[in-house]
Amino acid sequence: MQFFDTHAHLDDALAKGLLPAQMEAARLAGVCGIALPNCDLGTLDAVLAVARAYPTLVWPMCGLHPTYVGPDAEAQLATLKSAAADTTHQWVAIGEIGLDLYWKQDNLPRQQEVLEQQCRWALDLGLPVVLHSRSAFAQTLEVVQGFGGHLRGVFHCFTGSIDEARQAIELGFYLGIGGNVTYKNNPTIETLRHIGLDRVVLETDSPYLAPVPYRGKPNQPAYVALVGHFIAERLGLSLEALAFETTRNAHTLFALPHHSASKP
Ligand SMILES: [Zn+2]
Repeated sequence: MQFFDTHAHLDDALAKGLLPAQMEAARLAGVCGIALPNCDLGTLDAVLAVARAYPTLVWPMCGLHPTYVGPDAEAQLATLKSAAADTTHQWVAIGEIGLDLYWKQDNLPRQQEVLEQQCRWALDLGLPVVLHSRSAFAQTLEVVQGFGGHLRGVFHCFTGSIDEARQAIELGFYLGIGGNVTYKNNPTIETLRHIGLDRVVLETDSPYLAPVPYRGKPNQPAYVALVGHFIAERLGLSLEALAFETTRNAHTLFALPHHSASKP
């Protein structure tokens, strides 16, 4: 059985020397792929270092996260753009990029410009986008719609309604489901019950949002299996079927060769 963690920040684990143990735990849990979002110039070296240390397991992304959009955004974007065009790195997406109106509301037009700019890189480079959208689903969707259906990607850490899920899927996007689906009274499982799994990928958002029973503790890619287990149990599916479908979706999303595991 194989799982794909489509969203993990591992720069902190790298800095603390926790990476070898976390990667071993991930392998034991059946994790066959981990995609690493980038936040800003300060995290780029770590993202690339982890990807180099674990080729065939870890896949890097390049992008400027909306909460990191500050006065130096132009300079950061210039450097990130040339990094994204460097094909010696095996980029699988432009990410994470998006809009965040939870932490910052006063620079929305600027966040929108930065998002649009990076969506254009993704189109030029033929890469998907990994979207961070917090308290800003409608605004993020509007930017994506502006690209007329050409853009593809995933709404990471999706916690929206059935209606929002359908809107994202209609645009050809995937939904990234993480540890918060396991939290008490979280409505995402009901959304999944209605929309099914064909546009769903799993993620951890490590080191944040650890699933139950590790809620409140640091998260790690191995825990993607716990997210999968929770969803399979609640939806009455076999874990094998859920792992197969979500892992296949992750490979399609990132245009990686399909894994060899046969359909259960
Ligand atoms: Zn993230």
